[in-house]
Amino acid sequence: MPFADNEVLDMILKAMNKHEGPISKEMLLKHLKTPPCYTIVRVNTVTTSKDILRDAIEEALSMQYSLKSISPPTIQYHDTIQDILVIKSNHSLEKAKPIYPHVMVGLGCAIAILRGANAYSPGITAIPTGVAIGDQVSVFADLLGQCKRGWNKEYEGLKYFVGNGLLLQSRQDLFTVGSPRGLAINMIEPLFDCPGIGDILLDDKTVGFQKGFLQNLPSVLCGHALNPLPHHFVLDLCAAPGGKTTHIGSLMENKGTIFALDKSASKINQIQDNSARLGLSNITAFVFDSTAACIMENSQQFQEYDTTELVSPLPTSPPFLPNSFDRILLDAPCSALGQRPQLYNPIRLKEVQSFARLQKKLFLTAAHLLKPGGRMVYSTCTYNIAENEEIIDWALGLFPFLRITSSSVRLGKPGYRIGQLTEEDCNAMQRFGSCPHENSSMDENSDTIGFFICCLEKVPLS
Ligand code: SAM
Repeated sequence: MPFADNEVLDMILKAMNKHEGPISKEMLLKHLKTPPCYTIVRVNTVTTSKDILRDAIEEALSMQYSLKSISPPTIQYHDTIQDILVIKSNHSLEKAKPIYPHVMVGLGCAIAILRGANAYSPGITAIPTGVAIGDQVSVFADLLGQCKRGWNKEYEGLKYFVGNGLLLQSRQDLFTVGSPRGLAINMIEPLFDCPGIGDILLDDKTVGFQKGFLQNLPSVLCGHALNPLPHHFVLDLCAAPGGKTTHIGSLMENKGTIFALDKSASKINQIQDNSARLGLSNITAFVFDSTAACIMENSQQFQEYDTTELVSPLPTSPPFLPNSFDRILLDAPCSALGQRPQLYNPIRLKEVQSFARLQKKLFLTAAHLLKPGGRMVYSTCTYNIAENEEIIDWALGLFPFLRITSSSVRLGKPGYRIGQLTEEDCNAMQRFGSCPHENSSMDENSDTIGFFICCLEKVPLS
């Protein structure tokens, strides 16, 4: 039961059945509850090479797996994306049984565990009394977030088993200290065997900078679809925590200029931290509401500029003049229905339906700020047609100067044919994370989160 609102699940199911062929509700739920089998590491090409990073991860994984009774996963290069490593998990495990005292963790912590992480102190919600450091514990997600922090009996509410581990901190350490820190449970027998790569990348300080970045495959594709060049002026309108911004920074060889905007002041530090950790200096982050990032031509502010100048002044900080950027990424805030694994999603249909309005406002900004001849990428991590194809259909109707263009790397399925979109338009879009049909096999390009990418160009001035 990953959805509080059945109408949300029905909406996804109906769209998939109509545009991709028959699947059942059970198949879709299983697909959404299961983490992708593949872990993708984007290589920080500014500071290291694919070979060096592969060797470092291989060595760390062989130590990690010496504690488990199975062999470590293999690390492969991708056929077409040159700056990633593909690590295939041994998903067949699923043998772990909840036979130890039950420890409760938050939903975010549980999802991280299913994708290969250990459990850190802030994620732990409850441990029964009598359980001590070194004891084996069975770890459960608190699906509704209703378990009281520090609860000392076995929790009887709605919960989902994510694996067994070894307790490394006591109840006292975790619940009586102000803000607990550090590793709390070493997940020796998780439900799915995903390698724990995050800690390897953070721990490796041998070259001073982080050599790689964990990222979903479609997210990496956004950077390649944008195709930024080292001399470009690039704008990332919804940038935090900076996964795609830092990729763009690497693709530009740490040259050019990237302005990264996000309206969340608390998240802007993550862009700065990630840029610093990856050794990138071509990114400047601003806390800014991107719906107001373009100085519109009918505004007072626009009148104050000397528009008789043939060349617009170079952008320095938001808001910007129209036609300022060679490349724009709009990785829009969305209903995030494509996340995997999903153990429980509280979102209501009304909220899902509310995102398109904000996405259109942001799109308007992007369309105006793009230079003629420039390229923009629109992306979301949702299956919802209203936030994907319908936005593009709306934009093409409104902006005669925009054209859909194919990205050089195509790994997803075509977009859904709706509204005025042509077959050619839909073939240029990419959809990821479809639910597999009975007996169909999946690879690193299909077993991903749900994601949508569309690349557009502004017609050059003739
Ligand atoms: N591109 C990011 C990455 O790859 O790490 C993820 C972006 S996330 C999908 C969407 C972001 O949009 C959130 O960080 C949110 O704070 C931001 N956001 C929402 N409304 C915004 C607005 N009006 N202006 C700027 N940012 C906004």
